[in-house]
Amino acid sequence: MTTDLDRKSGARGPNVADIPPISGAYILAIRTARPVEITVRGLPAASLRPGWYAYAGSARGPGGLAARIARHLRIGKTPHWHVDRLTCAAARIDALAFPGAYECLLLARLRDLPGATIPLPGFGASDCTACPAHLVALAEPLALDAPYRTLTRRASCR
Ligand SMILES: [Zn+2]
Repeated sequence: MTTDLDRKSGARGPNVADIPPISGAYILAIRTARPVEITVRGLPAASLRPGWYAYAGSARGPGGLAARIARHLRIGKTPHWHVDRLTCAAARIDALAFPGAYECLLLARLRDLPGATIPLPGFGASDCTACPAHLVALAEPLALDAPYRTLTRRASCR
């Protein structure tokens, strides 16, 4: 079954619509197929080489995880956050939702994965004083159990 939310988000699986509208944290597993130039305020310009990345974020506003993840996966969104630079250029994005969780703890789990590195210190962590960044580069596709996981082709940006 394809829902309105799936069509808006560009998602393949029906399970985007199953993510609850409650607070929590999430991971975006992002695959890029070409180098992505990153120029964001406050960080040195950098180029991220093609590969797998994982970003940890929080959703504590209205609509919770459902709204935030739908926004990340939307077609034609306007770039706003650091991570948008990466999702706008992604060949594929999977979203993993963790109701009630904290993004810094998810980041710690990501850093524990074999071969995981911090490619861009400060990226995605403007509001965080604990983590070196909220983005890790992965040595392989993300294999992590999550209460909710979407399958997504790609997002796009204006
Ligand atoms: Zn953090």
